[in-house]
Amino acid sequence: MKTQPDSHPAAARRILEDAAVKPTRARLALLGLLLREHTPLLHEEIHARLKPSGINRVTLYRALQCFVDAGIVHRIEAGDRLWRFAVCHGIHRGHCHPHFTCRICGRVECLSQCIMPVVESGIPGYQIEEQELYLRGICASCAS
Ligand SMILES: [Zn+2]
Ligand SMILES: [Zn+2]
Repeated sequence: MKTQPDSHPAAARRILEDAAVKPTRARLALLGLLLREHTPLLHEEIHARLKPSGINRVTLYRALQCFVDAGIVHRIEAGDRLWRFAVCHGIHRGHCHPHFTCRICGRVECLSQCIMPVVESGIPGYQIEEQELYLRGICASCAS
């Protein structure tokens, strides 16, 4: 696992500019890390990996919140009461894809390629603002 904080500097900078978020050093390092990772990360895991770049917890917390508000990152709570954070890829921002938890290794993944049907409430006056789908099973590496 690489630990240098800025191996995706151009991509991270472009995403921040598109979202009109000021590209501070901490935000670039955080977004670079999340872009490199293919699994959603816990706050603790992000903090540990960004430690070499000297980003403190408060700065990290604020940067994550800023990314969530800007729609760059989404939060996932897969039933263990722990928030994980992942970059929102492509046009399906937010929670418009299912999340998968492996019951053997406990890994949580974004199933970004799996498009969820949009659920209608069917009840007059009810507007659905968010929909989440959590799937559990066995991941490819645990199955092999
Ligand atoms: Zn697994
Ligand atoms: Zn996701």
